[in-house]
Amino acid sequence: MAEEGIMETMRLSASEYLEYIPENPLKPPMESAWTYMTDNYTRFQIATVGSVLVHMATYYLLSFPAFTFQFIPYMRKYKIQKDKPETAASQWKCLRILLVNQLFVQLPMVCGSYVYCEFFNISFEWDKMPAWYVLMGQFLVCLVIEDTWHYFFHRALHDKRIYKYIHKIHHNFQAPFGIVAEYAHPAETMILGLGFMWGIMLTCNHLMLLWGWMAFRLLETIDVHSGYDLPLNPLHLLPFYGGARFHDFHHMNFNGNYSSTFTYWDKIFGTDKQFIEYNEKEAAKVEKKD
Ligand SMILES: [Zn+2]
Ligand SMILES: [Zn+2]
Repeated sequence: MAEEGIMETMRLSASEYLEYIPENPLKPPMESAWTYMTDNYTRFQIATVGSVLVHMATYYLLSFPAFTFQFIPYMRKYKIQKDKPETAASQWKCLRILLVNQLFVQLPMVCGSYVYCEFFNISFEWDKMPAWYVLMGQFLVCLVIEDTWHYFFHRALHDKRIYKYIHKIHHNFQAPFGIVAEYAHPAETMILGLGFMWGIMLTCNHLMLLWGWMAFRLLETIDVHSGYDLPLNPLHLLPFYGGARFHDFHHMNFNGNYSSTFTYWDKIFGTDKQFIEYNEKEAAKVEKKD
C-alpha cells in the first residue's frame, strides 16, 4: 500500500512537472522574447521605452565596429580619407553634443511612436507579423521614399542662404566617423527625419516594421558615415547603393552626392559630376604610379 502511495505521488509529480514544459520546446527564441514583451509590458511602455532602447542600442552597437578600426593598423588601408584620421578630441566633441541632441530632440521624437501606433492602430502581436518577404518589400518602399525626400531636402539645406544656419553643423566633420550620422542641428533632425516617417505612414501595419526600418536606416547611415570602405560589404548588394565612398566625398567636398542611400537622383540631376571627376583623377594618379 505504502509503495502504491509513493508511485501515485511520483505519477502526480511527473504530470505536474510536464505542465511546466512549454508546448513547443523548439519555439524560436525571438518569438518567445517578443511574446514575453507583449505579455508583460503595456503598449505605451513598448512604443516609448522599447523604441528608445531599440534606437539607442542599435545606434551605438552598429557604430562600435568602425570605432575600433582606428586602433587596428590592418584596417587603415580601408580608411577613405587617410590624411584625416579620427582624433580623440573630435570624437569626444561629437559624442557630447550628440548625446544632448539624442536626449532632447531624438528621444521625444522616438517616444512619439506611441501616438503614431495608437492613431494608426499598429499591431504589436507576434501572430500578425508580416512574412519576411513582405517586410523586405516594405523596407524597400521606405528606403526609396526616404532617399527621395533626403535628396531634395538635403540639397535645399545646402542653399547658400540657409546652409550656415542649419546644415553646417553636420559638416563640422570633413572626414566622418560612425556616430557623426546623427550629429546635426535639431531642425535638420526634424526636416530630414520626416523622410523616415513617410514610408512608415504608408506601409506600416506592425511594430516590427517600425523597429526593423529604424534599425536598417541606422545601419545604412552609420555605414555611409563610417569613413571606411570595407570589402564584401553586403549592403552593396542593394542596386544603386551609394555606400561610404559616396557620402564620404560629400563631407570632404561639401557639395554633390546629396542622396542618403541610392545614387540615381544624383545621376539624374548631375550632382555626382564632381565625384566622378574626383574618382577619375584618383584612378589616373594610381595608373601613373604603376
Ligand atoms: Zn550635406
Ligand atoms: Zn553626412
